[in-house]
Amino acid sequence: MTLLRFAPSPTGRLHLGGLRMALLNHLHARKTGGKWILRIEDTDNTRFIPEAVEDIRGALEWAGLDYDYGPGKSGPHEPYFQSQRLDLYHHYAKKLLDSGHAYRCFCSPDQLTEIREKLARQGSNATYDKRCLYLTDEEVARRVRAGNTGVIRLNDSNLPSRPATTDIVFGPLRDAHRSLATDPVLLKTDHFPTYHLASVVDDHEMGITHVLRGEEWITSLPLHLDLYACLGIEPPQFAHVPILINPDGSKMSKRNNDVQVTDYIQKGWEPQAVLNWLSLAGWGVHHDVDEPAFDAPDSTTLMTMNEMIQQFDLTRITHHRQSLDSAKLEFLNKRHLIGVWSSPEGRQSLAVRLQPTIVKGFPTSECTTIPYIQQVIQAMNGRLTNILDVPRHGPFFFVDPDLTSDEAQRMSGPPIADVMNVLGLLRTLQRLKIAIALEKM
Ligand code: GLU
Repeated sequence: MTLLRFAPSPTGRLHLGGLRMALLNHLHARKTGGKWILRIEDTDNTRFIPEAVEDIRGALEWAGLDYDYGPGKSGPHEPYFQSQRLDLYHHYAKKLLDSGHAYRCFCSPDQLTEIREKLARQGSNATYDKRCLYLTDEEVARRVRAGNTGVIRLNDSNLPSRPATTDIVFGPLRDAHRSLATDPVLLKTDHFPTYHLASVVDDHEMGITHVLRGEEWITSLPLHLDLYACLGIEPPQFAHVPILINPDGSKMSKRNNDVQVTDYIQKGWEPQAVLNWLSLAGWGVHHDVDEPAFDAPDSTTLMTMNEMIQQFDLTRITHHRQSLDSAKLEFLNKRHLIGVWSSPEGRQSLAVRLQPTIVKGFPTSECTTIPYIQQVIQAMNGRLTNILDVPRHGPFFFVDPDLTSDEAQRMSGPPIADVMNVLGLLRTLQRLKIAIALEKM
């Protein structure tokens, strides 16, 4: 059975890129009749933000991405927080120490800086001179007994040979991708693993069949493959997905964009539209001549979750970086809104979602009941791009216009009082119509 994992680090709110990775894991799991795990990679104590876990879970729930196992959903291979799996990482680190594929290093941060600078002066791009590899067993034992366990590094000399790898998205990979750190640290002084060790151990222990993650991790892959080879275990299949960029090619950043999922929640976007939008970014639409493209979604194809699952094909994901165009989100959102509105439950849920905004935006209004809001949405339906357009473009449904405002006084054209009389009349008629409709409900 296919088993995937979405493995965010709780170092901040969930980004759009993270939501996209969760979505792709979900689609591949559902498409193949498999399952997916939410695994919290909380091994970096310096960057850990406790509220981030709730934020991640809340964002997934909003999006309807229901993981099979993870926090709050027990299953095999618990626990799903890496900070609660330290014994496992220590066990594997010891295996690597025993087989000579790892060693303890006791160098202080200052010493390491000195070593790096010296190596750079000598024209070497090594980051460590491996001096602790040559400590005698007695010396290492003496330091450990004295309470100094140091860090554990991979010994990258004499690594076992391993077959070349093919990434599902990027194709055959060469070791040009290898990160340049010499003898990377696997277990830190605080006895927590680094991402690399924890990720390899958990993917193996949990029985993950496909690792579907962001392209930024592709440089770590050779190290991970070395770890699998040193431990004598089979790696899963890998699919690295290109990162999202702005339409102008720049990196998506908080300064220019809404990058956090909460921004999209607060701004009233429909979860289905956001997922649809994300799914289409980079979903390699076939352009091959002999492979017809008519059944492949184009970049504005409207899809429900079930349609996305049916259409999804991991091998179709393109290795080109993809940009997100906000105009497409508006296009998709407008159409998804019409879809949501078409069912009684959808109508109810939209009005329930909107009510707090109406109450907050028009605190003196007496027209804030769910049936009334539903009638207003009905009146504006088809013209709404976003549900928050209701208070933005239709404030007159909830409050009387302020005839004394500067704006009203400045208005040119027919005398303001006449205009307001007509508007008032129209508004009364509108309310009357709604009241009659409510009567009939
Ligand atoms: N914890 C990593 C992150 O925050 C996950 C990398 C992976 O999926 O292997 O993105």
